Amino acid sequence: RPVIVWFRKDLRLDDNKALHAACASGRPVIPLYIQEPGEDGTGPLGAAQAWWLHHSLHALDTALRKHDGKLVLASGHARNVLGDIIKRSGAEAVFWNRRYDPPGTAIDMHLKHGLEKQAMEVRSFAGQLLHEPTKLKTSDGTPYRVYTPFWRALEESGEPETVDTPRHLRFPKQFPASETLASWKLLPNKPNWAKSFPDMWTPGEAAAHEKLQDFIENRLQDYSADRDFPGKAATSLLSPHLAFGEISPARIWEATKGLSRSIPSDNIVGFRKELAWREFSYHLLFHFPELARDNWNDSFDGFGWREDEDGFHAWCNGQTGYPIVDAGMRQLWRHGWMHNRVRMITASFLVKDLLVDWRRGEAWFRDTLVDADHANNAASWQWVAGSGADASPFFRIFNPVLQGEKFDAGGDYIRQFVPELEKLDDKYIHRPFDAPKSVLENAGITLGETYPEPIVDHATARRRALRVYNAIKDAA
Ligand code: FAD
Repeated sequence: RPVIVWFRKDLRLDDNKALHAACASGRPVIPLYIQEPGEDGTGPLGAAQAWWLHHSLHALDTALRKHDGKLVLASGHARNVLGDIIKRSGAEAVFWNRRYDPPGTAIDMHLKHGLEKQAMEVRSFAGQLLHEPTKLKTSDGTPYRVYTPFWRALEESGEPETVDTPRHLRFPKQFPASETLASWKLLPNKPNWAKSFPDMWTPGEAAAHEKLQDFIENRLQDYSADRDFPGKAATSLLSPHLAFGEISPARIWEATKGLSRSIPSDNIVGFRKELAWREFSYHLLFHFPELARDNWNDSFDGFGWREDEDGFHAWCNGQTGYPIVDAGMRQLWRHGWMHNRVRMITASFLVKDLLVDWRRGEAWFRDTLVDADHANNAASWQWVAGSGADASPFFRIFNPVLQGEKFDAGGDYIRQFVPELEKLDDKYIHRPFDAPKSVLENAGITLGETYPEPIVDHATARRRALRVYNAIKDAA
């Protein structure tokens, strides 16, 4: 009798422990993906991730077909879908890889109890993280709240295990009926705002592995020196592949092992430390589920956020008048991704210069990022806002002009995403509002017409932010 392998954010065949165990059991496998309703699991997918999911499911189905199988698609509450498929297929077991977001974990626990009561075999496996959140604990048995000791513990935890793509995948003679991917309408229609996504992304497991190889061969050697410069293609771009589990973090970790003969080891450690930030966010969210929605530091509950619809919309649309902020927000819109340094700058601008609640920014990123991830997104927003665990203090306020000048000195990044400033010379590329009229004229720019005037004066906004922060400072 078959075993159902329920795919979730692990859309891969390689290093998929649930799939591996199902194959090892010798039983035919029914690969299943369930589109759960918005209120289940991690909530509704953002629009950019819906685009990715469509292509990723297609890629997984194609990979399974090469083994003479296919992916069964079904939508509904997992308990109903599983119940139905078990009835129709005669399956005797359900395997999955664990998820760690609070609603997902709750659903899984509930399901496990329910299915076991019906004498089903239910097994769950690790795979989305390097180590289980229950494993890494401080010496007094509590979860880590500070990154550096967490990193040390992670480093000392040994190598995470990996398993290969099963050699022999057996499938049932007859599959339960599947819904069609097209009927899920995951792709944008009119307007097709995702039309530039394929310039940057190929969803799916094969592409994830190619990207990892390309990164190791061409960019890892300069990672630590270059990773902060958005104009350089210096980072791995693996984040959306990780978000959908098309490649496991353990596989990435393993691929960077034993390279120190050819690659200076500080780059390998630097890269692994970023994977560890992802891990840290997940462990935090697992132990402190409120992190996704509430201020970690509850003294921020009394923070004087502003309602600023105009400011928020200017920020979303990349029309703030600060080139580095606008370039970042437009990169996000065009490619569904933004460079980490610029995520920090744009987030700081929203939260501190505009004093808009971090949750609005988090929600916008969740809808527009292809790599949106409940743990990383919420933890990073709270890190910037100063309300998070081991966060950057609120009073550290990024100056968007100085940040731009430091990390995009030649303005390459700005020119790529804010073409109306293309001809402005380097001296003013990060502060067109300071440029003499003649310089603007030569570059074909009319402030307020072809490019916005700054929506706030940074120095004034900074003072305002500190005043508002002072009101809660003592408690924070
Ligand atoms: P690389 O530099 O190649 O790093 C490798 C991997 O390490 C990444 O794929 C990612 O999984 C992890 N990583 C890298 N930097 C961080 C970080 N600062 N925090 C946590 N993990 C990290 N990352 C997401 O995956 N999803 C999000 O929704 C998300 N939202 C963010 C929101 C804000 C406000 C900020 C400041 C950062 C956010 N990040 C998020 C973290 C980071 O920006 C991205 O992970 C990174 O830019 C992805 O690009 P990369 O794969 O080329 O990274």
